[in-house]
Amino acid sequence: MAALNACYPSSARISSVSLKSKVLQTPCFIFPTSKGTIPHLTPDNINDNELPVVYFGLEDSLDLLEKSPIFTAEGEIDKWVAGTSSQSILVAPRRSTPLPSVSAGSHHIQILTSSGLKKLTNEVYVKAIIKLRPEIAIPLNDNPSNAPGVKRKPKMTEKSITWTDELLSGLQNNQLTEKVKVFFPVPNVEAPYLDPLIERFRENDYKQHISGLACYGNLHSIPSELSVYPKIFLRPLLTPLAILQSIHQGADIVMADLVNQASDSGIAFTFAFPPPVEDLQNIKLELAWDMWNSIFAADLSPLQPGCSCNTCQSYSRAYIHHLLQTRELVGWIMIQQHNIHVFHNFFSGIRDSIKAGNFLHDTEIFKKIYSSNFPRATGLGPRKRGYQMDLTDVQPVENKPNWVQLKPETNNTEFSHTTQKKEKVQEFQESELPERDTTVGNFADTYAAISDDQSGSELEENLFAELDDIDDSTYRESRMQSLKEEFQRVSTAKEKGHMQYLTVENEREVMDITTSSKRVVIHFFHPDFRRCKIMDAHLEKISKSHWETKFVRIEAANAPFLALKLGLKVLPVILCYVDAKLVSKLTGFTDLGNNDDFDTPVLEFWLLKWAAIEKLKENNSLGKKSIMGFKDTKNESEDSDFE
Ligand SMILES: [Zn+2]
Repeated sequence: MAALNACYPSSARISSVSLKSKVLQTPCFIFPTSKGTIPHLTPDNINDNELPVVYFGLEDSLDLLEKSPIFTAEGEIDKWVAGTSSQSILVAPRRSTPLPSVSAGSHHIQILTSSGLKKLTNEVYVKAIIKLRPEIAIPLNDNPSNAPGVKRKPKMTEKSITWTDELLSGLQNNQLTEKVKVFFPVPNVEAPYLDPLIERFRENDYKQHISGLACYGNLHSIPSELSVYPKIFLRPLLTPLAILQSIHQGADIVMADLVNQASDSGIAFTFAFPPPVEDLQNIKLELAWDMWNSIFAADLSPLQPGCSCNTCQSYSRAYIHHLLQTRELVGWIMIQQHNIHVFHNFFSGIRDSIKAGNFLHDTEIFKKIYSSNFPRATGLGPRKRGYQMDLTDVQPVENKPNWVQLKPETNNTEFSHTTQKKEKVQEFQESELPERDTTVGNFADTYAAISDDQSGSELEENLFAELDDIDDSTYRESRMQSLKEEFQRVSTAKEKGHMQYLTVENEREVMDITTSSKRVVIHFFHPDFRRCKIMDAHLEKISKSHWETKFVRIEAANAPFLALKLGLKVLPVILCYVDAKLVSKLTGFTDLGNNDDFDTPVLEFWLLKWAAIEKLKENNSLGKKSIMGFKDTKNESEDSDFE
């Protein structure tokens, strides 16, 4: 493994990781890519020194797997991704900051491809690593983004060990242990659950063949015996200060997701480390500029005075502002180049500061003189794909929808939906409960699913007893309380006809429904259209598990006013209402891959994107299509948090 020369008493440290053709000085960062491509940049405008290692999430490419170069093309991964020859590639199962995975079994995890949820088995993953030969590989691991339940936690550690062992023996059998460095995936669980790692890491094969740790959870939970290993920290870090803090806690390598995020929004970095020493008299410096802001329209200075990047050497703020305004993609290219340059310098500054013993002091000053957040993005980013969305803060409208003019006019007294919903606003606004954990959510789902068959109170008691049985945590009391509240929500929803997929006869009824339930999904159908029938089958299925949403269908001919107002010409059309507001419209299968045999989860993800459903359900039925020769293992146990 890499030599470490720790030379600073805090957990922040200078060290290095040796790769094939270079030595990485740490702390440093790994750049996330989309299928191996740095967003906005082509190989000819990438500066190799600034981006020595890039991150490749295998799930990005698995939708195409049968046809993809992963298994068919000649050569290793660097031969077919759009990087430069001297870039090192790290391959991991999932994207950096992935969308939630639903469940995992003893041989697979679920991943999200552009055609829905699929299973990725370790057998396939190991095969892919052997074929691709990336310089760094992170073994398959189970790290749900929601807080895992108590039963799942020890299994997460076990799986990390088993799947790492399988990868190591695969590499050994192919004489690849020298070529592919393996970073052990440390799951996101508390310290006691990581105890089995201590024993395992004392054994020879780990000593010889594990090059570092890929940390999905709190850095403080990692056993101190393992602190000698270089640590890649895989949690999202959205501000420079968050990066400084994670380095302070011992991260050696972090992910650079915030660079892409800023560049997408037209935000240009202006921060530096160590921070400038000026007497600012309590005025905070900005971390970045929003280049969409019209104050730059006539500003001829470079993005950041003194910056030696390509962009700042030749172009002005006014020019870049103009490029964004006219949607010239080169505007984003320039900002991305600048941001990467600033980010690279930020890390050399961090290393210098640690070497000089000033890291904590400099971090304190950084915190004092810079604002805590980036400016709010105001511009229109380049179009986002579904899997890039941030589901922790669902923002329904990224680009202005082109159907905005179709809103009913407020002065239409004959049939005014807008007026109606204003009057009724108090009735449907349901208070959001505080964050519910997965266990409570799953119990509520079970309650919703079987409360018709068993008498309500008996079932409630059984479920309470079961929760009592599996949960000995300090959260039990509050869990019990939120479970009671959840049961109440389920009962109310059922009284309103949720969990049934009913046909509504007239449009006035549709309007009443959109104002009486918080979430409503309406299917406009034609009885003879094939695609409408396909849609019915999926919605019927989804309505059964999503008790939080009301699903109805109406024959378009019975809704002439709405059809005209909303310009419905092609069917099927799906409308999503949240809090009586129309948040999204789906026409045909355009957003579902435009083919007739999409899997139900694809539609489910689309609904989730617009917050028309609350979350994905753990018992999500998987698509019928098998991928990668995956055999149907009906008996294999799924690890969700409800067993
Ligand atoms: Zn610059």
